[in-house]
Amino acid sequence: MASLRFKAIEKAFCRPAVAVETPKQLTSDYYGKYVFNKAQMTKFLSKGTLRILYDAIDNGTPLGRDIADHVAAGMKMWAIEMGATHYTHWFQPLTEGTAEKHDSFIEHDDNGGVIEEFAGKLLVQQEPDASSFPSGGIRNTFEARGYTAWDPSSPAFIVDDTLCIPTIFISYTGETLDYKTPLLKAVNAVNKAAVDVCHYFDPSVKKVTAFLGWEQEYFLIDEDLYAARPDLAMTGRTLMGHESAKNQQLEDHYFGAIPSRVAAFMKELEFESYKYGIPLKTRHNEVAPSQFELAPIYEEMNLAVDHNLLLMSIMERVAQRHHFRVLLHEKPYAGVNGSGKHNNWSLGTDTGVGLMTPGKTPQENLQFITFLVNIMMAVHKNAGLLKASVMTAPNAHRLGANEAPPAIISMFLGSQITAVLDKLENSTSDEAIVMDEKKKMKLAIAHIPDVLIDNTDRNRTSPFAFTGNRFEFRAVGSSANCSAAMTALNACMACQLKEFKAEVDSLIAKKISKEKAIFEVIKSYIKQTKEIRFDGNGYSDEWKEEALKRGLNCETSVPLIYDQYTTKESVKLFESTGVYTEKELEARNEVRWETYTKKIQIEARVLGDLVMNHIIPVATRYQSMLLDNIFKIKNCYPEEKAESLSAQDRAIVEDIAGHIAAIKTKVDAMVEARKAANKIECERTKAIAYHDTIVPYQNEIRYYVDKLELIVDNEIWPLPKYREMLFIR
Ligand code: ADP
Ligand code: MG
Repeated sequence: MASLRFKAIEKAFCRPAVAVETPKQLTSDYYGKYVFNKAQMTKFLSKGTLRILYDAIDNGTPLGRDIADHVAAGMKMWAIEMGATHYTHWFQPLTEGTAEKHDSFIEHDDNGGVIEEFAGKLLVQQEPDASSFPSGGIRNTFEARGYTAWDPSSPAFIVDDTLCIPTIFISYTGETLDYKTPLLKAVNAVNKAAVDVCHYFDPSVKKVTAFLGWEQEYFLIDEDLYAARPDLAMTGRTLMGHESAKNQQLEDHYFGAIPSRVAAFMKELEFESYKYGIPLKTRHNEVAPSQFELAPIYEEMNLAVDHNLLLMSIMERVAQRHHFRVLLHEKPYAGVNGSGKHNNWSLGTDTGVGLMTPGKTPQENLQFITFLVNIMMAVHKNAGLLKASVMTAPNAHRLGANEAPPAIISMFLGSQITAVLDKLENSTSDEAIVMDEKKKMKLAIAHIPDVLIDNTDRNRTSPFAFTGNRFEFRAVGSSANCSAAMTALNACMACQLKEFKAEVDSLIAKKISKEKAIFEVIKSYIKQTKEIRFDGNGYSDEWKEEALKRGLNCETSVPLIYDQYTTKESVKLFESTGVYTEKELEARNEVRWETYTKKIQIEARVLGDLVMNHIIPVATRYQSMLLDNIFKIKNCYPEEKAESLSAQDRAIVEDIAGHIAAIKTKVDAMVEARKAANKIECERTKAIAYHDTIVPYQNEIRYYVDKLELIVDNEIWPLPKYREMLFIR
């Protein structure tokens, strides 16, 4: 067995970088080559079709069947010219990643041959056999099938020989079964609510767009080392492995020189991503060894999410060409940092104003402060819900598990914004809002500089941080579909903005001037949201205590956190914004609990198998080698001498015996706990049982295995060790 490990090490350590040919063109020349973008549409669609299609893309107006036929015809021509033979609806069920089922373009031509066809109805709607996608019981209850429907706001693209059409996925009775549909609804809700609030400041605003810039963290590992670790291959993380003596203590990996194999991978990854119109901008080493990050230029939210999902699949493909595996799991290795996917979120108007950017005029600054305090209120009221939107079995290893960000949602604003808010809170409306002779408003608050927060004022431990022109939601996990978090955030913001407007309007109705009404509500929000603001070290134990005192949600049990989705307040929030019905919320929680249970169940099984088949046999073999030695010593030396010469070996034999006995007892107990949990019908109760009674065994068993790793002869240890996996040569 050990030979597999050593072969893997030998191959991994000697593997040269794969040569990547540098494109002979400028990036801008091949950017978006595989995308049916506006440039291609102009070539393949008539002006009339284009006008209607753009209206659908920009304003969500429904498209008639005749227009769909025209678009489909143009799309087909383009796709065939690009070498495509198949098409698929590309959608985002409630599993990880995306789903697709390919159909070829061919139809009978009635002369014994075939022709390539692609009618509008095939573009608009498809009916995948959806019965095996999670629905939380929605399809069973309604005995309805699911169908996919075209999302014209995200452009079609070609992967290999297949035209991929981004779609939503819903049941025939209208319940959503995917990530994309609720996101579109939430983005729409925040648009409407934000436009209404913007009208206090600028009546010409017609649209507010939600933007997202994600930062994708990931690990790379050589494919042979990966293949020698069944736990990594089956669960995405190492279930055992003693810490490497050197890991990230020297802080020498972050922003360090990129190893040549990895640089080649990144180069090809960028080359490929540009062809799909994914605007990758930054790449660098992350904190942990063999951990990296990339980030694009931010985009409209729906497109940004699709691009992230597409990128994750391109990463896997390109990694394999470079004999790597990409690890998107939130915590592949214990003892070093895990991976997140910071979601940089902002809102901007069609008049070109960033609503989270301090403005140039007093008017714009009051608007900025208005949106800022509304975000504070939204996060303050819904901190538990926002946590639920990012919590998963793998992300639980990051959040609150001795690593930033903590499992307590708080907001970092930085010293400058804090000073502005303090000033506002302590002024009267007469002091703060001054009108000059021309009835132009002046804001008598501390000056808000254009470039607000530089890197020195960054707080890397905050789960929700203001970073100058946006908020960074850092608690999102590296493997997640960003939609889960972004749907919740945009819905919370939409609901909050509606409440804000109602409050301001009620003051205006009492003949208070608009500016003063806004000021009064802002001031009360600043007072109400004190608890959620925290600029200190979110990582520390003191903060946990302090947060408890403040009454913040400190729950860390994943199954229990999901209850936040169905509280009275959350149901009201989602129903009033049209994002989810109560039935959908309940169904989705069923899926969440079931997914949690299955993930832990798989880990528990893999762990049980690995310790029984890989670890204990090897430990026993080593024990037997030691016993042999003890016997031999006994045969060669007089009793007293033999006793002292074999003392070490005997001590190790006993250590091993102790560890093996502990492992066996714990594995047996874990199996029993699983059997008991599996009998539970209710998904929620079952998930809680898995969390409370099975997860603790994982850590306990690991403890003894890691002890054995330190004792057992290195020559026969079967699994690649951390020190061998974590450093890419
Ligand atoms: P850092 O690691 O310093 O936070 P990065 O450059 O790695 O920054 O990533 C920042 C991300 O935030 C990028 O995707 C960037 O495009 C995005 N971003 C910048 N400004 C905005 C904005 N106004 N709205 C949304 N995202 C933004
Ligand atoms: Mg960042």
